Amino acid sequence: MRIIAATKNKGKIREIADILGELGIEVVSQADAGIDVEVYETGTTFLENARIKAQAVSLLCDEAVLADDSGLCVNSLGGAPGIFSARYSGENATDKENTSKLLNELSGIQDRDAYFETAIVLIFPDGRELTANGRVTGRITFEPHGNGGFGYDPVFYCTELGKTFGEATDEEKNNVSHRARALKKLFELLKQQ
Ligand code: IMP
Repeated sequence: MRIIAATKNKGKIREIADILGELGIEVVSQADAGIDVEVYETGTTFLENARIKAQAVSLLCDEAVLADDSGLCVNSLGGAPGIFSARYSGENATDKENTSKLLNELSGIQDRDAYFETAIVLIFPDGRELTANGRVTGRITFEPHGNGGFGYDPVFYCTELGKTFGEATDEEKNNVSHRARALKKLFELLKQQ
């Protein structure tokens, strides 16, 4: 089976292709499928935003389309940055700018519990839809550790791994991550189709 990933985020595409590839599914980025569309994430939840992204690409092709919307939720910040994770320090913000803002917001705060959340929507050419979500818990470090992964990985200490996602290998992260968990649930749903 071949699926088009409705995202321009290279870190996400790599993870989605690695995880679904292991399960025998070929993943092609929307760019490699020749699809270019500007999508505005106007939803109020991860699921709504994932659906908006999947639908936008699905309208332009005749293949199964998968979109992920994900982010980091910090308990002591009331769940922020949440759905605004990619643009926490402004539109077109870099990972480094977002991470610096997060560490600033948390300066002097001891409760640093946080989790990553992912919602995934898969839309078939006939309009049918499957959804799944995944979560991984941990806490925000006081400074970045490691430079693997992308986004907030260097400041997210994953309890299960005993290190930050920035220090983890791709394989270690893909064993426990929010995205991996959502994708594996989605795969189970796909098998029942
Ligand atoms: P989205 O593209 O709107 O889903 O934004 C996701 C944003 O959340 C990314 O740009 C990152 O800032 C953050 N994020 C999501 N998943 C991860 C992850 O696995 N590691 C680090 N940051 C992530």
